[in-house]
Amino acid sequence: MFPLMSTPTLLRTATAELYDAHVLKNYARAALTLVRGRGASVWDDTGREYLDFTSGIAVSALGHCHPHWVAAIQKQAAELIHTSNLFRHPNQAELARRLVGYAGPGRVFFCNSGAEANEALIKLSRLHGLQKAGGEEGKCYKVICAKSAFHGRTFGGMSATPQEKIQKGFRPLTPGFVFGELNNLQSFADLVDDQTAAIFVETIQGEGGVNPCTPEFLVGLRELCTKNNLLLLLDEVQCGIGRTGAFYAFEHAGIQPDAIGMAKGLGGGFPIGAVWIRDNVAELFHPGSHGTTFGGTPLACAAGLAVLDVLEQEGLMAKVRAQSVPWIRALQGLVQEFPQKVVAVRGQGYLVGVQCAQDPAPVVAALREAGLLCPTAGGQVIRLLPPLTATAEELERSVALLRKVLQGNS
Ligand code: PLP
Repeated sequence: MFPLMSTPTLLRTATAELYDAHVLKNYARAALTLVRGRGASVWDDTGREYLDFTSGIAVSALGHCHPHWVAAIQKQAAELIHTSNLFRHPNQAELARRLVGYAGPGRVFFCNSGAEANEALIKLSRLHGLQKAGGEEGKCYKVICAKSAFHGRTFGGMSATPQEKIQKGFRPLTPGFVFGELNNLQSFADLVDDQTAAIFVETIQGEGGVNPCTPEFLVGLRELCTKNNLLLLLDEVQCGIGRTGAFYAFEHAGIQPDAIGMAKGLGGGFPIGAVWIRDNVAELFHPGSHGTTFGGTPLACAAGLAVLDVLEQEGLMAKVRAQSVPWIRALQGLVQEFPQKVVAVRGQGYLVGVQCAQDPAPVVAALREAGLLCPTAGGQVIRLLPPLTATAEELERSVALLRKVLQGNS
């Protein structure tokens, strides 16, 4: 389908030089230019194929260029791309209906990214605090988050992300965020006071090192919130939309949050973010209290609908549940095989972290050389994020490549 024609050397050099000259230097970018993708594979500008377990950082849920998704975007692009939120469009209505179907009775707000979804959650916590304080602004505004969290790069998200490398240089931050130990319910309970409006955690921390909340911790947070009239806000930006084998990762714990932030996999590569807020709480927003020009365009929602179609029609969540079990077991075998190098393997479904004994950057670079693309995460972790369409063979290949690199990597 794709001509495997390599980009001329001149053009390759030009791309690198143009990046050097004109693109903001806010990333430590790999020296790799990707030019096309299909399923779990991407090709660079020399025609070399890689197994892509970065998936655009948990974004390309259907892999690259799934035919149903491509057709949906092409059709919608030829019909109507953007309308603003001053008017209705059937795609936004239908995507909201389907997300409510997964989350429960409530309402959906569409935006463009994970950080924007989380901004809306943080604003929701302020509105809830305002109501709790009988309408007195600035009285009840605190949000309890977790250490090692990552909620995005906007001022709200960054302030909820207690990491020096992210906050450095940008202070003063948004006030009101306090931090407990993940999976230590008492440390969260100890932080609750009259000024607390919400608890906000990732169901599985992604950037922080693939650290799942235990089911008991989530159940405990739910009880703590209910008892103290706090909102339980869950960041499912990275772990949601089928990645763990359930549509939302919190489903495994059998709890119900008050609001959910999502993005990444929802558009399958097209930018879209969304917030679901449960009934009664959703009414805290009223016309004029929040908004965005681009959120939930006909095109973005067409991409989201196509992702949900494929998730459902191809039974991807059941496949993730089934195929991840032997894959994670095989990865865990690396802990015994390379005890000097691999400390632990954790995660769920297709969101897995391989914790290394040393800085994982050289291993990730060697994996790239060997033909596997994957990102790192905090705590010396190699993150593996296959598309939800990845086959058992592709998963096995990732283990073989890791083994090969770990054998060669001294
Ligand atoms: N929340 C979580 C859990 C994330 O993993 C990310 C991004 O990695 C974000 C929020 C921010 O999302 P975005 O980069 O789309 O703004």
